[in-house]
Amino acid sequence: MAGPNGADYPDRFWEETRMKIGFVGLGNMGLPMAANLLAAGHTLTVWNRTEAKAAPLKAKGAKVAATPAEAARGAEAVFSMLADDAAVGSAVFGKEGIQAGMSPGALHVSSSTISVALSEKLAEAHASAGQRYVAAPVFGRPAAAESKQLWVVAAGPKQDVERCRPLLEALGRGLTVLGENAPAANVVKLSGNFLIASMMEALAESFALTRKSGIEPKAFLDVFQSVFARSPIFETYAQLIAEEKYSPAGFKLKLGLKDMELVLGAARGAEVPMPLASLVKDQFLGGVAQGHGDLDWSALGALVAERAGLKRGT
Ligand code: NAP
Repeated sequence: MAGPNGADYPDRFWEETRMKIGFVGLGNMGLPMAANLLAAGHTLTVWNRTEAKAAPLKAKGAKVAATPAEAARGAEAVFSMLADDAAVGSAVFGKEGIQAGMSPGALHVSSSTISVALSEKLAEAHASAGQRYVAAPVFGRPAAAESKQLWVVAAGPKQDVERCRPLLEALGRGLTVLGENAPAANVVKLSGNFLIASMMEALAESFALTRKSGIEPKAFLDVFQSVFARSPIFETYAQLIAEEKYSPAGFKLKLGLKDMELVLGAARGAEVPMPLASLVKDQFLGGVAQGHGDLDWSALGALVAERAGLKRGT
């Protein structure tokens, strides 16, 4: 297979545990991720717009490049961990960008949270240059990156994902491979962040309602920790929605509507706007209106899927 400088590399090349890696983007996430790759014994050349942030890695033996292209030059794999689409676009496609520096056959591992459209563009651009591309965004905050507790979701051609598997495994506690279409990993990452954001809005609304009703946040936190946190509740509902198992009902959707109305009644009394609760109440109301009141309340999954034009069981 073709490697850096267009040379053909024997298979054993990829079996070497020590790889030559470029790493572009040393922000809150990139810095600890790059440090873990270094600690795993790989050779690193790093680039960051603000060069001073590379100092801790330089002290541990990484080379510091003047441009993204220089970080990518001669590397078997080059990671990018940058803020957003604009940053990734300029660092990859710029005159002194990653793509210009990558050799044919070299691999770009894109870990930033970016749009599906940009990920598609990256897949096409690298393929047409004879380069390889894997999307590997991550779940977990900087502290998790430091302690190798990230969860990586990766997608791309099978052999390329397998080639960078040891690198991805060096970043976290686990890896889910989502098939050969790289942008699928970006869809999963964005869905995950939507899940977190919705959960935070629900938490924020619950804390506001209880607090304004005279309950100490610590007391509600105690209930939350005893009943919801680290509990199988999320897991149960995710499974019911994934399997579209809405009948027989464990808890009827029409009773869910009643409870959301009770929540909103309490919120009205306490003068606490709860937009997410209002939205969920209307979702349940729509479900009852469509004749689904006796399905399990997790049939919210079916209502949303139907409005997205999805057929049951597909
Ligand atoms: P950050 O601390 O703000 O770092 C952003 C990085 O992008 C820095 O290296 C910054 O360079 C660089 N950058 C920004 N604009 C640029 C530009 N126009 N040209 C070149 N470089 C540019 O962000 P982060 O928290 O590490 O996040 C990085 C990515 O991971 C984001 O896509 C984020 O959504 C995702 N993510 C974050 C978390 C988290 O908890 N923080 C978790 C999972 C995923 P400078 O140092 O020069 O500013």
